[in-house]
Amino acid sequence: MQGMMMHRPLRIIDILRHAAEAFPDQGLVSARDEGDIHRAAYPEILGRVAQLARALRDMGIGPGDRVATLAWNGHRHFELYYATAGIGAVCHTLNPRLPAEQLAYIMQHAGDAALFIDPSLVALAEGLADGMPAGLRCVVMTDPARMPATALAAACYEELLAPHAADYDWPELPEESAAGLCYTSGTTGHPKGALYSQRSTVLHAMSVPLSQTRSFVAGRRVLPVVPMFHVNAWGLPYTAPLTGMTLVMPGKALDGASLYALMERESVYSGWGVPTVWANLLDEIDRRGRPPAGFADLVVGGAAMPRAMTDAYEDHGITVSQAWGMTEMSPIGTNGVVPPVLQGAPRDAQMAVKTSAGRRNFGLEFKIVDDDGTPLPHDGQATGELHVRGNTVIAAYFRNDAATRAAFDAEGWFGTGDVASIDATGRLVIRDRAKDLVKSGGEWISSIDLENAALAHPGIRACAVIAIPHPRWDERPILVAVAEAGARPSLEEVHARMAPHFARWQLPDDLVLVDELPLTATGKVSKLTLRDRFADYTLPDLREGGA
Ligand code: AMP
Repeated sequence: MQGMMMHRPLRIIDILRHAAEAFPDQGLVSARDEGDIHRAAYPEILGRVAQLARALRDMGIGPGDRVATLAWNGHRHFELYYATAGIGAVCHTLNPRLPAEQLAYIMQHAGDAALFIDPSLVALAEGLADGMPAGLRCVVMTDPARMPATALAAACYEELLAPHAADYDWPELPEESAAGLCYTSGTTGHPKGALYSQRSTVLHAMSVPLSQTRSFVAGRRVLPVVPMFHVNAWGLPYTAPLTGMTLVMPGKALDGASLYALMERESVYSGWGVPTVWANLLDEIDRRGRPPAGFADLVVGGAAMPRAMTDAYEDHGITVSQAWGMTEMSPIGTNGVVPPVLQGAPRDAQMAVKTSAGRRNFGLEFKIVDDDGTPLPHDGQATGELHVRGNTVIAAYFRNDAATRAAFDAEGWFGTGDVASIDATGRLVIRDRAKDLVKSGGEWISSIDLENAALAHPGIRACAVIAIPHPRWDERPILVAVAEAGARPSLEEVHARMAPHFARWQLPDDLVLVDELPLTATGKVSKLTLRDRFADYTLPDLREGGA
């Protein structure tokens, strides 16, 4: 028997319409490219989104057309998210930290019809001009007075909006329509596109606050340090208006001092970003002796947050929760919120949750499988590749059959490439990226576990473990580290800290100190680059005369 309820399509624009009605005093605070601070409440932003939608239609942009952005976190970028979705077009966020060659490839592959650019990224766009799709329309996101001189035939954003009325009769769209496009470049080969729908985006926005309960409080302020070009800033441009929060948009200045100043001035309650960002902020907190006033909730993802850093923030009274996810998952898959049964428990018991990748959000299914694809028990011990499925997981890569065939198992689950264990309470522990594990003498060594142990050494500021080929053992781990100012950590000291937690053969063979670690375009340590840099490196026991 069929239920007898209405079926109304889920639409992204309805999130903003809801915010404008239910939370008219909340909105966006943006540190803009032009150097000023812009403030607008959701009703005003909805009006500008309507103007922009009319402008896009005037430019000939319609349903299914890809509109690219080269922009930091700010209100105009937010307006583009909603105006494109509102008319059924697709917002395609480009990561300005990618090499020009990859950006050109991505734009060609996506077949972008327009490109909206922040003033500080105009020079980057000019450098891409030859690689851009034919007929691409460029718009610089500023007002006429601050329009930069450019070789691009570019229109001015505020001039485009100005003539248009601030209302729009938003069309009914099939909820499966594409709304967002983001390429992931964490792998070798060409970047691959995840094409989000209206439905997947709204479901993601509704499910994340259900699990990440502490972070969403109507009337408070949330700071996405995670860029809007990296998986829609983890969905915050949707979850914040939906839950009545004000978004504090940091623009391009993401160093510790700038973030601290912005958070302090704007009373940010919750901040979201990758560990490298939180390491920089922690330096600033140490310098000033206290965290920014009002900062109470920190969500970290993209890579594991080391225990030492988690402790440091918790000591300052800031609740840390780790989320795990992927571009292919919209992106959030888990939450690290401490469950009621552990609230009030000693910190060590809570840390078992906080230092894990958390527990799965409602609507997602997880399984771990061995090399043959056989499911393994969720007993906290068995370790295998994590496979996922759910309404917010990609069903295929955009225009890439080969990558799609490689990514899904026979039952249609998506293979994440992460090697993990899951315990009986659903706690997910990411042991490694499959490609980052070190295989020594037929046994696997987790680079993440070694890195976390090494970071407990007070003289180590940042580090990465990589595998070096070895004729006898296949591979051996080495630790590449950045020392704290004035410190000179030794391999013996690091071994001493690791010894209680690892077998002897699992310890790194060498410690190499470097000035800095290479980062990927999304702010994670780039092991790919590091492995390239160490291509000619010789392990101590293979050096002439041995070690
Ligand atoms: P991206 O698609 O760029 O968001 O990268 C996704 C990958 O980042 C995942 O497959 C993981 O390898 C890694 N990742 C994301 N969140 C975490 C986390 N909390 N802990 C460990 N690794 C993570």
